[in-house]
Amino acid sequence: MRMSKLYMPTLREVPSEAELPSHKLLLRAGMIRKLVSGVYSYLPLGYRVIRKIEQIVREEMDAIDSQEMLLSAIQPSELWKETGRWDDFGPEMFRLYDRNNREFCLGPTHEEIFTDIIRNEVKSYKQLPLSLYQIQTKYRDEKRPRFGLMRCREFIMKDAYTFDKDVEGMEKAYYIMWKAYEKVFDRCELKYKVVEGDSGAMGGSDSHEFIAFSEMGESDICYCDACDYAATFEKADCKYEVKNSQGDVLNKEKVHTPDVKTIEHLVEFFNTKAHSFVKTLLYKAKDEVIAVMIPGDRELNETKLCHAVGVNEHELEMATEDIVKEVTGANVGFAGPIGLKKDIKIFVDSRIEKMKNIIVGANETDYHYKNVNYGVDFSGEIVDDLLMVRKGDKCPKCDSKLNQERGNEVGNIFQLGTKYSDGLNATFLDENGKERKIYMGSHGIGVSRTLAAIIEQYHDENGIIWPLSVAPYHVLVTVVNTKNEKQVELGEKLYKELLDKGIEVMIDDRMERAGVKFKDAELIGIPYRITVGKKADDNIVEFVERKTLEKKEINADDVLKTLSNVLIK
Ligand code: ATP
Ligand code: MG
Repeated sequence: MRMSKLYMPTLREVPSEAELPSHKLLLRAGMIRKLVSGVYSYLPLGYRVIRKIEQIVREEMDAIDSQEMLLSAIQPSELWKETGRWDDFGPEMFRLYDRNNREFCLGPTHEEIFTDIIRNEVKSYKQLPLSLYQIQTKYRDEKRPRFGLMRCREFIMKDAYTFDKDVEGMEKAYYIMWKAYEKVFDRCELKYKVVEGDSGAMGGSDSHEFIAFSEMGESDICYCDACDYAATFEKADCKYEVKNSQGDVLNKEKVHTPDVKTIEHLVEFFNTKAHSFVKTLLYKAKDEVIAVMIPGDRELNETKLCHAVGVNEHELEMATEDIVKEVTGANVGFAGPIGLKKDIKIFVDSRIEKMKNIIVGANETDYHYKNVNYGVDFSGEIVDDLLMVRKGDKCPKCDSKLNQERGNEVGNIFQLGTKYSDGLNATFLDENGKERKIYMGSHGIGVSRTLAAIIEQYHDENGIIWPLSVAPYHVLVTVVNTKNEKQVELGEKLYKELLDKGIEVMIDDRMERAGVKFKDAELIGIPYRITVGKKADDNIVEFVERKTLEKKEINADDVLKTLSNVLIK
């Protein structure tokens, strides 16, 4: 590629809206441009990287006999209604109507459509197992589109679906996919961890997420150094030891606590520890107001609450001040389980059952109760675990300490069981002629997010440092001074030689100052550079590695040999 012809609108300034290095660098390197919030165009260099990642994914999917197809992005609502997800998916779904007022959506994912395709054709156990995939644009009207390609409203995903006769088959397919994902992310040279995930809107039982490390990542994961336990914070079981389980049950007592609303204030006021309190939080779950009780020294895990209540995440929100006042009869900060003005469901973290003589809000402004006990003064629906795990907590598997890391979810694998084949009635006849439901798996890789995740791990203050496997080009020949005939001649000769050898090479033949060329070269991150400058007369060029910025003078005749050593791995 000739840079004089390449559309690569690089920017010197850091765009103000960009927070993440990947977002800034993709914009600066002229690889993407924003159309509207969460919707981007891929420019030539950016799109080359997308295609490289897609190709890696494709090769690894093909290697496990998953077969590529391409489905429509437009999906009729009827199929989603069959599985109940038309409502469950909520506001993240882009919905539209045709001229006859028929309802459609732009596919946020394709479980329904893939299941529909096979339910009409797969009839016998002989046609199973089956693994199908596509690489396609997905649409999700995210609540907070941000971080460039990390969280978009339009993004590229590889989604694979596996169809099996039974649980064992589904588990085997899951494991095969897991191994293929490791190959994909290893080839992208990502540093990542596989963690237990929450199944969320997909339903089903088991799921794992592939989290690429990044200090500014959106996913919080915890892991144990001593054993192999690793999970997202949403999913992680919290081991919480009750510290106030001893002593006699005392009589409850109302205490005047003027303007003492927060746990910090309460700790000071009562001169005790945060674990002596229980927080009562009010939420709106679908159309119902509920109360949730958790130990005062911990945070609520809303995902766990959603599971306990049986609502989707978008159906849960904190109660407004007005609702709190209506339900408790008091200002915010004094909610408790005793004497609520409305008969609402109370979800109680199981640890509270064991806590003795706790302090709670009295549902009266400026008052709390002390010496309150579960089963004596109040009751509710006990939920095993509603707490957010914390760094330093005990590992649920081996009791060692849990560590914390941040990262971005680049892929995930789900065991769906028969959720979709139940909803869409996808069955087959087994060896005995008996009709049975198909067991499914659903496995995604965020192709465009992977691109951003790679940059998060491979950059410096001057630009991107592409791993060879996904670099838009492998080699950049820079002609320092395009007015110098000798330099042009040697640069062009090398460029042609490399092209002839099938090497992915660019030549910077632009009429630009040397400084501009070097800055752009570092910004766009081509792994190896051949700089043809003043010593062209002596047939000497400079060989530069982007990663280390190490420079080495070599004879122009040795360029091919030097490159062969680093390009062939
Ligand atoms: P997240 O928790 O980040 O919202 P998800 O669980 O909704 O992800 P899936 O529905 O499983 O994601 O999608 C599969 C993959 O697609 C994810 O692992 C991620 O890499 C990618 N992905 C999901 N949402 C987005 C998005 N808004 N923008 C870019 N990539 C995304
Ligand atoms: Mg999501």
